[in-house]
Order: sequence, then C-alpha cells, then structure tokens
Amino acid sequence: MSIATAEIRLDKNVTSFVKERRKLLIDGQWVDAASGKTFPVENPATGEVIAHVSEGTKEDIDRAVKAARRAFESGAWPRLSPSERGRLVWKLGDLILEHLEELAELESLDNGKPIAVARAADVPLAADLFHYMAGWATKIEGNTIPISVPYAPGAKFHAYTLREPVGVVGQIIPWNFPFLMAAWKLGPALATGCTVVLKPAEETPLTALRLGELVQEAGFPDGVVNIVTGFGETAGAALAAHPGIDKVAFTGSTEVGKLILKAATNDLKKVSLELGGKSPNVVLRDADLDLAIKGTASAIFFNHGQCCCAGSRLFVQQSIFDKLVGGVADEAKKIRVGPGLDPKTQMGPMVSESQFNRVCGYLESGLAEGAKAVAGGGKRGDKGYFVEPTVLVDTKPDMKVIQEEIFGPVVAAIPFKELDDDLVKAANDTIYGLAAGVWTRDLSKAHSLAGKLKAGTVWVNCYNIFDAALPFGGYKQSGWGREMGHDALDLYTQKKAVCAAL
Ligand code: NAP
Ligand code: MG
Repeated sequence: MSIATAEIRLDKNVTSFVKERRKLLIDGQWVDAASGKTFPVENPATGEVIAHVSEGTKEDIDRAVKAARRAFESGAWPRLSPSERGRLVWKLGDLILEHLEELAELESLDNGKPIAVARAADVPLAADLFHYMAGWATKIEGNTIPISVPYAPGAKFHAYTLREPVGVVGQIIPWNFPFLMAAWKLGPALATGCTVVLKPAEETPLTALRLGELVQEAGFPDGVVNIVTGFGETAGAALAAHPGIDKVAFTGSTEVGKLILKAATNDLKKVSLELGGKSPNVVLRDADLDLAIKGTASAIFFNHGQCCCAGSRLFVQQSIFDKLVGGVADEAKKIRVGPGLDPKTQMGPMVSESQFNRVCGYLESGLAEGAKAVAGGGKRGDKGYFVEPTVLVDTKPDMKVIQEEIFGPVVAAIPFKELDDDLVKAANDTIYGLAAGVWTRDLSKAHSLAGKLKAGTVWVNCYNIFDAALPFGGYKQSGWGREMGHDALDLYTQKKAVCAAL
C-alpha cells in the first residue's frame, strides 16, 4: 500500500531554522562544537537530510557543565527571588504557546509525528508543564520541627528544614516526544533553582534547540540552560560521568539507564530514570466494548507505539476476545498512515531507519515463531520508515514480542478466562512496570485490579491521560523517581535540617 503525500506549507520560521547550521547553547552563547563537526538530521517520512547540527563531545560537555556550575554558584540566577524565578518559567510557557504552530511543525518534521498530534498534545502539554512548575517556584517549603533531645534536658532548640536545589543537573532525553521530554526535564529543574546541561536525542535535536532560543528570549541568565547536541555514546556518556554535575536525569531505554547508573556511581551522583515498558491493558467482559476498542487501539497506536507506556500486551476476557480484537484490528486498518506533515495523517513513520528495522525485526520474529497478524504485519510504502499498525494473536508468553519492548505500532492480544490470580500474574509477568490499563463497568473490579497491577500509572476506562499535575514513573525496571506533579520537586531538591540552640 502506498503513502499519502500532501504536506502543509511550512512556517517561515521553521524553514529558516532548519536552513542554518545549528550550534550548541553554552553559557548563553550559540557556539560550534570544539571539534567543528556536525551531524545530519533526517526527515523520517522521506529519509532526506533536513538540517545539520553540531556534534558535541566530551570537551563541549565539560564547557557546558562549567558554565552551569558558574551559573548555579554565582551570578544572577542564585540571587533571583522564587517569584522572579517562577515568572521566568511561566514566561517560557507563554512563549511556547506563542510559537505553538512553528514548534508543532518543527517537531513533526523532525520526529515524523502527525502535525495534528504535535499541535494538540506535545506543544500545549509542554507549555502547561512550564506553567504548572512556575507555580511551584514560590512553594518550595521546609518545616519547623519540635525536637526533644533526651540527652540535653531543659535545652531549647529551633529546628527546621530547608529544601534546596540539588545543583547542576545533566539531563538526557529520547526521541519519541522530543519537545515534551525537554519540558518534563527543564520545568522542575528551573522552578527549583537548579542549572542544566541538556542532551537531546541525536535523531530529534531540533525542537530542544529552538526551545534554547526561547529560554534566552524569556530572559534566563546565561549558563542556566545549556544544550549540547551529540551522540549518546560520546556526549551522553560524558555528561553522565562528569564529576561537575550533582544529578543526572535520564529518559530512555532500560539498557542505557543501567549504563547511566554505572557512570554515576563514581561520585554517587543523584540519579532519576524514566525507562521502558511493556504495559498490560486488560479488558473485562463487562467493559463498554465501543469505548474499549477505540481506547485499547489508541493505547498502542498513539505516537506510532513509540510510547514508553504503550499498551502493548492486550489481555482480553475469552468471551469477548473475537469481538474486541476484531474491533481493534478494524481500527488498525482504518488508521491513515503517512508523513507527519500531512494534516490528514493519523500515524507517521518510525523515527529512524534503525528503529524501523528494529520494529520490522520483531514482526518477523513473532510471525516466524507462530504468531498471526490479524491486522498489518509489515512495513508500508517504499520510502521513509513506515510500519503498518499491527495486531498479533496466537502468541506465547516466552516470545520476544511478548517479553521485549518493541516501541512500535504492534500489539499482542492475549485471551484470559477469569479475573483471577493467573491473570494478575500474567499481566505482571514482565521486567517493566510503567503503566497499565483496565476496561470494565464494574468499579469494584477496576479498583481491586488497579491495586494489584505493578505499574506506576493505572488508567481505568481511559489510556495515555497525562497532566502536569499527575506524577509519572515506573515500578520495577521502568525507572526511579516520578516526573510531573509535586513529586518532581523531590527529584531536584534536597533537604537540609538546621538546628539552632536557643
Ligand atoms: P536510548 O537509546 O536509551 O536513548 C535515550 C537517550 O540516551 C538519547 O539521548 C541517547 O543518545 C542517550 N544515550 C544513548 N547511549 C548513551 C550512553 N551510553 N550514555 C548516555 N546517554 C546515552 O533510548 P531511545 O531509543 O532514544 O528511546 C526509546 C526508549 O526510551 C524506550 O525504551 C522507551 O520506553 C524509553 N522512554 C521512556 C520514557 C519514560 O518516561 N519512561 C519516555 C520516553 C521513552 P542518542 O540517541 O543521541 O544516541
Ligand atoms: Mg540512539
């Protein structure tokens, strides 16, 4: 089957942004990489090169970390009041909304996601995150604590806690929601008074670099936000291991998360990790079937399945299995696959050739091991990195497609007989624990199952509902810490106890 091609005319800011060789943001200046090298950025809908960005390496990371350290210890940033800090973070949110269309187009061009999704979700969610975090800047409080000190009878003390910023933070992000992930990282770090060196994914560096320009426009002091584009094995590894940072915040694969952790052990940096998933989505026989069909299809096909929380294992009660899975397969076949910049596109290409090959490899392995595709099952078109929305049945629990994260538009539908311990065991039979879904009209079953699923988020009769106020993160090997909500403040602050004799 071929691919639709009608694309929108790009905003003039987008065309001029990609035309220029993009530099690194270090200490408030846009500078070339020390090596002078650049690397190409592709449009995944065509495989064509759309831009060239600087290839930062260890030396650039070192310069950026030193700038972030200076900005944290001296200069304007530590002297700003919480209210002034909050206003800057709020202004960044406003600037994002002012440039919504441009940012959505740039994101769609770079990542391949449908422009309609970037406009409705990625960019507004990022703005909302900054607005939400801006409010916290003035509410980072400690406590006064009455203490007894049994070995000092009669002595009086005034004891209290302060919440202080953790310091200079290295942040490493993936390519699936490039702009939104930059917001999830920068928002709480800035609201709490940290300074940052951010390394975007090599596949999708463009919107983070544009965000760097908006950071400058908002008026953040030099060195508070530094952005170094480059490769994970060089720039990323150098950042995670750098002795000049106090904390590393990482979103990406569980495999690389473990490398980050190892790199951070040298000087025992603080670490937070948002990692992979293989999320169970459970449909009970009493579910609203229309809702469940649309919801479970969207749980896997949204963002082309390139979601850490994608509902990739669909458990369906036996008596409704054929009807529900048939419905999801019909939904899959209806999805309009095409270039992200075509306004009618509902699902774009995989982000890169290697991701495309990886997803196709999983499809081949699943089908070779005896799984059957009731929708999709292979690539689509002969240009770009398009994969068909795929529904697999007849899988076995030990197949790679069941155990490993595919990170593509592929769901495995698995029947179960009763809502019992066996179902719970099967749903939890994964190294991951990021998210889960439950579809039922029975409130008691919904909440009791939500309590038994080992996942950082459980959605009931909905899926992929995100909000700046709702904490997100993983159980088991899906990560450490929670982003968003007030929990995110814990990742970027540390508590100091002060005790004064009166
Ligand atoms: P990845 O390969 O782990 O890359 C993530 C980031 O780490 C990229 O910036 C990458 O750089 C960098 N990196 C790679 N190797 C590194 C190293 N040795 N040291 C330091 N940094 C290194 O993951 P991905 O393939 O881009 O993203 C997909 C994965 O992210 C999936 O597993 C998904 O589940 C997970 N994810 C999780 C969440 C969540 O919130 N839990 C959200 C989104 C994605 P380069 O790409 O530039 O090489
Ligand atoms: Mg990579």
